[in-house]
Amino acid sequence: MTTPVRLVWLRNDLRLTDNPALTHACRDDAAVVLVVTLTPESWHAHGESLARMGLWNDQLRSLLPECERLNLPLRVLHLQRFADCAPALADLAQQLGAAELCFNYEYPLNERNRDAAVCRALERVGVSSRAFHGELIIPPGQVLTGQGGMFKVYTPFGNAWRRRLIDFDSPVIPCPSARRRAVCASEPLPADLDYGAIRYRRDIWPVGEAHVSERLNTFVQERVQDYARKRDFPQTDPAGEGTSRLSPYLSIGALSPRQCLAALRAENDDPDWLHSSWLNELIWREFYRHLLVAYPGLSRLEPFRPEVEARISWQQDDPAFQAWCRGETGFPIVDAAMKQLLDTGWMHNRLRMIVASFLTKLLRVDWRLGADFFMRHLIDGDFASNLGGWQWSSSVGADAAPYFRIFNPQVQGEKFDPNGTFVAHWLPELRDIEPGKARQRPGAGSARGRPEPIIDYKQARQTALDDYQSGG
Ligand code: FAD
Repeated sequence: MTTPVRLVWLRNDLRLTDNPALTHACRDDAAVVLVVTLTPESWHAHGESLARMGLWNDQLRSLLPECERLNLPLRVLHLQRFADCAPALADLAQQLGAAELCFNYEYPLNERNRDAAVCRALERVGVSSRAFHGELIIPPGQVLTGQGGMFKVYTPFGNAWRRRLIDFDSPVIPCPSARRRAVCASEPLPADLDYGAIRYRRDIWPVGEAHVSERLNTFVQERVQDYARKRDFPQTDPAGEGTSRLSPYLSIGALSPRQCLAALRAENDDPDWLHSSWLNELIWREFYRHLLVAYPGLSRLEPFRPEVEARISWQQDDPAFQAWCRGETGFPIVDAAMKQLLDTGWMHNRLRMIVASFLTKLLRVDWRLGADFFMRHLIDGDFASNLGGWQWSSSVGADAAPYFRIFNPQVQGEKFDPNGTFVAHWLPELRDIEPGKARQRPGAGSARGRPEPIIDYKQARQTALDDYQSGG
């Protein structure tokens, strides 16, 4: 009898440990071939950031020596479009005599449609497909209300998720053992994805399973106890950050949420770990993915609450939007946050909320423009979390901030960057100003070249409230 051949299609699950699709493919002595589909034009057209593509590329490359050792050759399909995945994978499966294709689900609608087309194309040539929920701890559709529907509010979802965890509480799956033989040789990855300048801060975002698990372990051993106290205060030194900075790795699947959960439990002697604030954030991540599956319109950028959006008259104010994009609004905390994003591909969560509130409420620019700009620049760009974050901030999402909650950027700056250390780090013109509240004043540093504020906060706030109350 010949040994079966199976294909594992790697996407945003770039890891060998706790990868259910890979484990399934390696369940017996089958020969297993890994395959990646590179569609840079599509990624670019869909607004993926170069930083994230660079991280993805480097993480994949970092896995290759171990894949070689495990006899897991990698095939690389260079494709023009998303739609080309179906015929290309069917051809490859036939060429290698593969009996099965395994992959981990991705939840946005485009990705689900692409995967369904791939499964149909494979079926036509007699190859079966099998998909797994490697991107979530609890699969979509498994955390439901008493009536069997999806929760629309986070807190009851979180409570039900914690109760449901018992049923999904399986250990992290180890890396599979080496295959006896490889049915083909590996193909080289392109030196760099060959359009545009891939540039990201490799010094801040190292790749490789060892680096990623070290970051996770250091966080849960040394910093998670202080998370609730420190998580809202952005830092200038990444090492001093109160949050884990694991989102880029979760986003490309260099790390699984189940690995995060296991590490949290192993290192935490607090019996109430199930209610820890850090786990709460991981559950928000799950909430947004569950919503995406339950409400397909979200993938088409429809608001979760159209009745709220109907009351807002979005402004077509391109100069204001451009000033926001460049970090030149004259509001120090907003501008410093945008400079952090442009330079490092990352922005602290508190700052994401501040800049999103500023754009959608004070400038009244459509949240979709902000969400797209984020995806084009974030190293942790993640469709579900980004959509959730923008809809929350603009009050059109599930369990969103109420419309009248409009962040005052100056007050937020004073509260979460009280010495102005963060703003002065990113805006050097502020360094001559005495550390403290003065650095957060709109227009601070204008004598040294910083822009004057592009809006009057009080007036803009009132206009936003009037707009909402009058329905546009
Ligand atoms: P930690 O605080 O250490 O949290 C651990 C993990 O939990 C994170 O890595 C992340 O995977 C998840 N998480 C934390 N907060 C949230 C949240 N509010 N919603 C969903 N998941 C969360 N997160 C992304 O991963 N990608 C995005 O594209 C993204 N866009 C956002 C846009 C806006 C407007 C807002 C307000 C938030 C966005 N977030 C996004 C959520 C959050 O800002 C980041 O996940 C967080 O800043 C990542 O930092 P960390 O890894 O140190 O998080």
